[in-house]
Formats: sequence, C-alpha cells, structure tokens
Amino acid sequence: MAKENHHRLIILGSGPAGYTAGIYAGRAGLHPVLIQGMQPGGQLTTTTEVDNFPGFEHGVQGPELMEKMRAQAERFDTETVFDSVTAVELGGKPFRLICDSGDTYTCDALIIATGASARWLGLESEQRLRGFGVSACATCDGFFFKGQEIAVCGGGNSAAEEAIFLTHFASKVYLVHRRDRLRAEVAMQERVRNNPKIEMVWDSVVDEVLGDPGAGGVRGLRVKNVKTGALSDLPVTGVFVAIGHNPNTEIFGTQLDKDEAGYLITRPDSTATSIPGVFAAGDVQDRVFRQAITAAGTGCMAALEAERYLVELEEGSHQ
Ligand code: NDP
Repeated sequence: MAKENHHRLIILGSGPAGYTAGIYAGRAGLHPVLIQGMQPGGQLTTTTEVDNFPGFEHGVQGPELMEKMRAQAERFDTETVFDSVTAVELGGKPFRLICDSGDTYTCDALIIATGASARWLGLESEQRLRGFGVSACATCDGFFFKGQEIAVCGGGNSAAEEAIFLTHFASKVYLVHRRDRLRAEVAMQERVRNNPKIEMVWDSVVDEVLGDPGAGGVRGLRVKNVKTGALSDLPVTGVFVAIGHNPNTEIFGTQLDKDEAGYLITRPDSTATSIPGVFAAGDVQDRVFRQAITAAGTGCMAALEAERYLVELEEGSHQ
C-alpha cells in the first residue's frame, strides 16, 4: 500500500554527494531519508578502479567505495530507500515528492544529489542499436566483446579510461575523437598512447552505427573525417559512447533555476538553490569538476546548510 510520510530532511540520490550528505546530516541527528534513485550508488558503480579518492592508497573499486559510503551513512541513522522520485512539488511547504512505488514523501528541507547521466550522440542508428552492441558503460558490457574489435567515442577522461579498460577484453580498440588532441588529463593520454591495442582515429565523428538489432547487432562504425569530409568504416562489433554527461534535473522542470545546460544553479560558496530549503550537491550542480571527491565535498556543505536552515526554520526565523 502506498505510504505518505513526513521527514525533516530528504536526500535525493546515492552517489558520493548524497551519501556524504547522509553521513553529515545523520551525525547531526536529523535522521534523514535518502532516496537512492534508479542507480543505487550512482555513476561510480559503473566504473572499476578509483585511484584518486583520498584514503585508498592502492585505489578502490567504484562499487566497493559506494557500499562503504552507504554503510557509513546508515551507521548514523540515515534511512536509505530503494525508490526513485518521479515528481516533485517545491512551490509550497512542506516540499512534496512522489515516488515510482506510489509512496509520497514530504519534507522541510531537501538535498538534491541526483547526479548526471551519460550523454548520447543523438544518431538514429545509435539508439536503434543500444543494447545490441552500442553501450555507454564499458564496465557493464565490456565482457561481451572478448577478442573482438570495438570503438570508443570521445576524448575526455571517461573515453580514455573506457578505452584502456576495454583492452582487457577486446583485441583492438579504436578511440574516435572529433579533434586532434585528447581532452583527457596528461597521465591518461600517456596510458592511451602506450597501449598497443588502442588506435586513435583523430578528427573524426560518428556518421552512422552500422548493423541490425535483429541480425547480430553492430557490424561496423562509419566515421567522417571533419577536415576532409571522407567517410570510412571501422570493422567493429561494439561501440562505446563516452562523450560526457547531462545533469539529472528534468523532474524539477522550471521550479528551480538552471543554467543553459540544465545544471542547477547554486549560490556562490553555497549549495542553496533558488528555493530556500532546497540544496543541491554533486554533479547535478557542478559542470566544472565532476569528481567523486568534489561531489562528496558539496554533499557535506549541503548537509551543514540544511541543518542550519532547519534550526532557523524551527526557531521561526524562516517563513
Ligand atoms: P568530458 O566533458 O570531459 O569529455 C567529453 C568528451 O567527449 C570530449 O573530449 C568532447 O570533445 C567529446 N564530445 C562531447 N560531445 C561530443 C559529440 N557530440 N560528438 C563527439 N564527441 C563529443 O566528459 P568525461 O565524461 O570524459 O569526463 C567528465 C568529468 O569526469 C571530467 O571532469 C573528468 O575529468 C572526470 N573523470 C575523471 C576520471 C578520473 O579522474 N579517473 C575518470 C572519468 C571522468 P572535445 O574534447 O572536443 O570537447
């Protein structure tokens, strides 16, 4: 049966921002409810080794790191709920959240940490072949391409990391990038350059993913050289798209201020959004850094600000 219940603080999202907010708000005695969303643990559950999170001198697996964060938040009485929010009403008090399960929650303060999702190229052939050789998650799907030739599209850290990871399975990885220089950090570029299984395809965009979902899926990738206009086909059976992310802010519609790319706008040096009592942390409001550690940092800020807001609300200084 659908439930309706009220909490002082609800946190949306279970990445580093959401769980860190849970740890801090839990320790402050706020008994927050954390609604995990469609992908419990967030984007780090789709990566392998995380080498740059402080405290793990030999690195840590992304899913393991997220499990540790969840357990730590729960130790301080954060209640995690496996559900996802499908509609929000932020126009009045309390704020109202309607979940996929039919349950409704209300709260006095809200921390939004819904993160970001993989961006797609937007080609008809890409969408038609999603799940039939086209993927945005190397960790999830790399295993299926043992001994095969595949392509990764993009030039950032994600694309470089995925290309390197996929060489564990594939016989060859084409890294297709629209410019003649990778955006990925220098250390990552070096690793790509030194990997004999990776072949760079510079100055090229995807023109079409070739293949038929009903007949073996992907059987090639048509790329176009942006300098010469020449088309060529790569003999691949898998295509991994790694061209960045879009913030998960659709459910907020026009209720909160966003920038032109859809990121929630927060006040400088703060996680406060355009509605008092609603705070935003992590990739949903950060188009610049987008690191696990920066997400965790803003999750901490959001919890501290939410706590202060609730104290003032309960003392009657907020209307
Ligand atoms: P980025 O935004 O950094 O890179 C996106 C890449 O995709 C760019 O090279 C861009 O090209 C290319 N691109 C974008 N749109 C298109 C398109 N329509 N067609 C073709 N190519 C396109 O995203 P990432 O996901 O790589 O990284 C996001 C953040 O996460 C970054 O801050 C990154 O540092 C971080 N990250 C860190 C990791 C780590 O530290 N281990 C691992 C993975 C990510 P162009 O360069 O021309 O703009």
